[in-house]
Amino acid sequence: MIKKYLLAPGPTMVPESVLLEMAKPMMHHRTSEFSNIFADVREKLKPIFGTKNDCLLISGSGTAAMEAAVVNTLSPGDKVLVVNAGKFGKRWAEICSKFQLDVMTIDLEWGRSVKVEQVESALIANPDTKAVFIQASETSTTAYHPVDKIGNLLKLFDNTLFVVDGITSVGVVETKMDEWGIDILVTGSQKAFMLPPGLSIIAMSEKAWRFVEKSKMPKYYLDLIKERKAQNNNTTAYTPAVSLIIGLNKVLDLMHEEGLENVYLRHSVCADATREAVKALGLQILAKDIPSNAATGFYLPDGIDGGKFVKFLRERMGVTFAGGQDHLKGKIVRISHLGYHDVFDTVVAISALELGLKKFGYEFEMGAGVKAAEEVIYKSRIKGL
Ligand SMILES: *Cc1c(COP(=O)(O)O)cnc(C)c1O
Repeated sequence: MIKKYLLAPGPTMVPESVLLEMAKPMMHHRTSEFSNIFADVREKLKPIFGTKNDCLLISGSGTAAMEAAVVNTLSPGDKVLVVNAGKFGKRWAEICSKFQLDVMTIDLEWGRSVKVEQVESALIANPDTKAVFIQASETSTTAYHPVDKIGNLLKLFDNTLFVVDGITSVGVVETKMDEWGIDILVTGSQKAFMLPPGLSIIAMSEKAWRFVEKSKMPKYYLDLIKERKAQNNNTTAYTPAVSLIIGLNKVLDLMHEEGLENVYLRHSVCADATREAVKALGLQILAKDIPSNAATGFYLPDGIDGGKFVKFLRERMGVTFAGGQDHLKGKIVRISHLGYHDVFDTVVAISALELGLKKFGYEFEMGAGVKAAEEVIYKSRIKGL
C-alpha cells in the first residue's frame, strides 16, 4: 500500500467533507438554490481578502484572474512595472508584453524579496507608470514580498494601480487589501483554498474600477464589467464552475469555523517547523529575505538530482513535493504548507525528506529534522499543547 500525501504548493489536498459536497448531483446554475450559495460565497470571501470590494469568481485557474487584471484595467502602450523575482513574476511580465504594454521590470535574484525603495525609485523615475504588478508570495522561490509596505507607498501615486497576485498568500497570511492599498488582488482555488484547480477570484478597488472604464484592451470571456453586473445579481455571465463554487462554500465554512487567525497561525507554525527542520539537516533555505508561509524551498545537497529525488519520494513513498522551476530545476525541493495541511503533515514531510536524503546518500543525524520540527510545534501551543 502507498498512502498518498500531496505536499506540493498546488494543487493541494482537498478535505473529505469538501469532496463529498462536490460529489452531490449537479444543480442548475440559474436557480435560487445556486444563487444563494453564490451570494454566500462572495460574502464569506471578503474578510479573507480584507476588503469591502466585490470578490468576483472566474472560471479558470489563477492565471485567468491575472490576465483579467491586465486586460480590464489597461490599454495597449501603457507603461507598467513588474517585480520579477521568479516564475510567477515573469508570468506577469509575459502577460503584460502579450497585451502590448510597455513593460519595465525590477529583476531580482530568485529567493530575494523586493525592497520598497526599489519600487519607489522606479516609480519616481517613471511617474507615468499605470500599474505595479507583484506576487505577495512568489511560489517558485518561496519568498514573500512586503506588499503591505509597497501598498502604503503606492497610496501616494494616484494614477498607478497596485496589482497583487495573492495566489499563495490569500488564506495563508492575513491580507488587508483595503487597508494596505491593494487595488487588485487575485487568487486561485487549488492552493490555500484546498479545492481542485479551475476557479479563480479577483477583487478590485474603486480606483481600479475607474481604470476599467478607460481600458481599451480587447476582452470577451474575462470582461469584468459584464461579470460584475451579473455577479451582483447573484449569477454569472456564463456557466460558472458550479461544483467548485459549491466546494468553495464548504471550504469557507471550514475556514471561518476554524477562525481565520487560527488558519494563519497553522500555516505559520507549519512553515516555521519546516524551516527549522531544513536548517537542522544542514540544508540551505532558498528565500533570503522574507520566507513565505505558503511553502519552503531549499537546496538539495550537492550530487543529489532533484528530479530523481522528488520522483522517488512520490512514486515509492507516496509523498509529493515540488521540485524547482526554470534554472532551479533539479536543484531545489519545495514543501507546501498550504490549505488542508496541519502540523502532522509537516512531520510526515520532514520524515519523508530525511528518509529520502538517507537513501540518496546524504550524511546527517537521522531524526534531527523531525526533532527540530516537533520543538517548534510544541512551543507553538497549538493542538492543545
Ligand atoms: C499557482 C500560482 C499561479 C498560477 O496559477 P495557475 O493556477 O496554474 O494558473 C500564479 N501565481 C502564483 C504565485 C502561484 O502560486
